[in-house]
Amino acid sequence: MRGEWVHLDEVWRQLQARADYPLPVREVLGQALAAVVLLSATVKYRGSLILQIRGDGPVHLLVVQATPEGTVRGLARWSRVPEQPDLAGIFGQGHIAITMEAASAAQERYQGIIALEGDSLAQALEGYFARSEQLPTRLHLFSDEQIAAGVLLQRLPGGDSRLGEPLNEDWQRCSLLLDTLTGQELRDLDAGSLVYRLFHEDEPRLFEGRPIRFHCGCSLQKVTGMVRSLGEEEALSILAEQGMIEVTCEFCNRQYRLDPVDVAGLFVSTPVGSGNSTIH
Ligand SMILES: [Zn+2]
Repeated sequence: MRGEWVHLDEVWRQLQARADYPLPVREVLGQALAAVVLLSATVKYRGSLILQIRGDGPVHLLVVQATPEGTVRGLARWSRVPEQPDLAGIFGQGHIAITMEAASAAQERYQGIIALEGDSLAQALEGYFARSEQLPTRLHLFSDEQIAAGVLLQRLPGGDSRLGEPLNEDWQRCSLLLDTLTGQELRDLDAGSLVYRLFHEDEPRLFEGRPIRFHCGCSLQKVTGMVRSLGEEEALSILAEQGMIEVTCEFCNRQYRLDPVDVAGLFVSTPVGSGNSTIH
C-alpha cells in the first residue's frame, strides 16, 4: 500500500482570495484542490493533471489543475448559493472529468469521465478509481477557510504476505483505520503524526515531502493566440464596440489589454515572396 498526504495553507488562501466564494462552494473547491494534488502525485505521468466538474446545479463549473512542477491553480463558477452542502446540492446532475495533459508530443492526452455520484467529492473520486480499472483507492478530504487537506491510500498490485505485500484483509483493516480519521485531525496533524496515529502497527515509511505553490500559466502570448483564433472580423467587432480587447484571467485576475494597434499586428497578412525568403 502507499499513501499521499497534502496540506495546503498559503496556496489555498491565495487561490480562494481571487473570488468571493460562498461557503459550500469554497469548501468543495478546497477539497478539489487537495484532491488534484493527491491524484497528480499518484499517476505516473509527466503532464499536468486537471480535475473538472460540470453540472446543472448552483455550481456549474469547477476546475483545478496541478502541474508536475508542484504548482496549482483553480476556480469555481456558480450562479447561486447552494442550499445543500452535498454533491448533488452543489452541482446537480453532472460529471467529473480527469484529464492528464500531454507533456510532450510523444505522449497522449488522457481523459477519464465519470458521472458525479456519492455524497462527497472523496466518494465520487473513489468511484472513479473503482470504475476505471485503477488501483483500489481511498480518499479523505477536508477544507475550511485556512486549510485544504487530504489523504489518499492506495492498494498496490500483488498480495503475497510472504513478500510483505498486502492481502485483502490488510487493505480492509487499513481502510477502516483511515475511516477513523476526522476532518479536525486532517486539518491539524502533520504527515508524520497522522501516519503514526493511524498506521503505527504497520511500521509505515514516511518519504520526503515537497512544496506546492500557486502559479498561473497565463501569458500575453496565450491571450493573443486566443484573440487570433477568434478571427479578424470578430476581433475588429469587439474593438469597434469597446475600443480595446480586454481579457481577465479568471485564475489569477491578471488583466491583458490589446489596443487597435496590437490587434492590427495580429492579423498582418504576409504577401507571398516577401520577408527573408530568397528564390534561387
Ligand atoms: Zn492567469
